[in-house]
Amino acid sequence: MNPISTPGNIPSDLVADWQTLHRVFIRPEDEKSRQTLIKYMEQILFGLHEFLNSHVGVTEAIPLATLAKSYTDTTIRREPEKKLADVIKDIINEIAPRAVNVASPYFIGHMTSAIPFFMVHLKAITAALNQNLIKLETSKVLSVLEKQVLAKVHRMVYNREPAFYDTHVQNVDTCLGLFTNGGTTANITALWVARNQCLPATGNFAGVEQDGMAAAMKAHDLERLVVLVSERGHFSLKKAGGILGIGNRNIIAVGVNKQHQIDMNELTRQVEAFSQNKKIKIAAIVGIAGATETGTIDPLPEMAHLCRTHGIHFHVDAAWGGPVMLSEKYAPLLDGIREADSVTIDCHKQFYMPMSAGMVFFKDPAALDRIIYHAGYVNRKGSVDLGIKTLEGSREASSLILDSALKIMGSQGYALMIEHGIDTARLFAQKIKDRDLFQLVTIPVLNILTYRAIPPALKQQMDAGVTPARQQEIDACLDQINTDLQRIQREAGKSFVSRTCLKIHPADAYTAVVLRSVIMNPYTNGSILDQILDEQEEILQSLQISTDLKPHT
Ligand SMILES: *Cc1c(COP(=O)(O)O)cnc(C)c1O
Repeated sequence: MNPISTPGNIPSDLVADWQTLHRVFIRPEDEKSRQTLIKYMEQILFGLHEFLNSHVGVTEAIPLATLAKSYTDTTIRREPEKKLADVIKDIINEIAPRAVNVASPYFIGHMTSAIPFFMVHLKAITAALNQNLIKLETSKVLSVLEKQVLAKVHRMVYNREPAFYDTHVQNVDTCLGLFTNGGTTANITALWVARNQCLPATGNFAGVEQDGMAAAMKAHDLERLVVLVSERGHFSLKKAGGILGIGNRNIIAVGVNKQHQIDMNELTRQVEAFSQNKKIKIAAIVGIAGATETGTIDPLPEMAHLCRTHGIHFHVDAAWGGPVMLSEKYAPLLDGIREADSVTIDCHKQFYMPMSAGMVFFKDPAALDRIIYHAGYVNRKGSVDLGIKTLEGSREASSLILDSALKIMGSQGYALMIEHGIDTARLFAQKIKDRDLFQLVTIPVLNILTYRAIPPALKQQMDAGVTPARQQEIDACLDQINTDLQRIQREAGKSFVSRTCLKIHPADAYTAVVLRSVIMNPYTNGSILDQILDEQEEILQSLQISTDLKPHT
């Protein structure tokens, strides 16, 4: 069937012709339409924002399968169906209430949350300007602004001497970092640089970027390239392993200690074992500054020391935790990050920017020379276009948003939000400990914690000691309870925590289902957290029967 259909009842004033097209591209043709557009912009800026804040419920309680039934038409209409005004009205009435109200202070489950009001304005401006940072010809001043903003954040991370920044801030031959589409591409870029650095040109071999992995292995007399990261590593690192030809099984998960930090003894053992084998090379070691699941921070100074001793690229994945450096109170948690060869920081996480932007930084301003690409129509040889060193092609002016946000908030404004998140997460941890029904699984080093529900009957049995077989039954039962609890609360749509799987103790063979909370909304407070726990207790009461179904032995 032709996917371009011509349906009947289209309002007769809706036509796609040259005259209308002109109006779409230039501007509303008369004062009346101008006023309509302004009215709707107002509704987007205020109405939508108000909606998100006044509807504390996280999402409408409609099952996804039901929604999906309304989204099955696969035809593109030949003639226009709606005016902009109607499209906006529909989005506000039909899409917004069924999307997820991530701005709710009851939404404490993921790294996506409320953003400051002004971000919507800034995002609208970048769309209106529509600059493309791939080249100077489509960005001009935005290219120098981008270099400046990157230098500011580089300085926050590395705190090099002022002369260093004077030299590099607008240096067209060097590069302190890049804006990317997010943490995933930032991590891929960092490991891409690390891979190319450890498989350089030699003899007839032009380098891994030019000749590929097979030739690189041969030229360097290697069989394997590996990357070491703790079990808590983000899955983007595995993607990097796949894309870069390292193989995602060679992104090696190192065990963690009780604090869910990388186990330094195990890491050291692995590094020494790999170093003994001349056929294996470690491309990078990745430290985590704010693990996605637990918010924990690896011992960065020790990892940096180990990397230096063995001449290994040290990457720090601070996609989540990076902006914590803006808080004088909590910045010391990230001590050691300055020694990293590369650092990932997301903009759409704790810089509170709208989707989607991230950054990657390099200690060595020449590091990105290892991934330079040129093209005939842009980014020609000798070009200073920023696009010669990015994985992405076209890129929006995210730097304009971050720079403006830093001006509006000041580092102190960000510090307040970040400190609120960490302090509130610590309060939440105490509330969890104070309730008999819950067990705190990971303490919040940053603003992330995990916990789980354990009905008292099962807790008593476990405390009294049970056979391994009975423990297995209890584990399965607890997993079911926590899975159901999270699902029922999510489906009810009033509040949201997420869930993941973790070993409760590092030595456990079994990974338990745990609830995960990320607190970054400045309006989430103790009273809201109590309500969320109360709701969970109510759900647990309704589930109670299932725990007694299991036979006691
Ligand atoms: C979120 C996150 C990433 C991935 O970032 P995206 O922006 O989602 O691509 C990588 N590492 C860590 C630690 C993260 O928390």
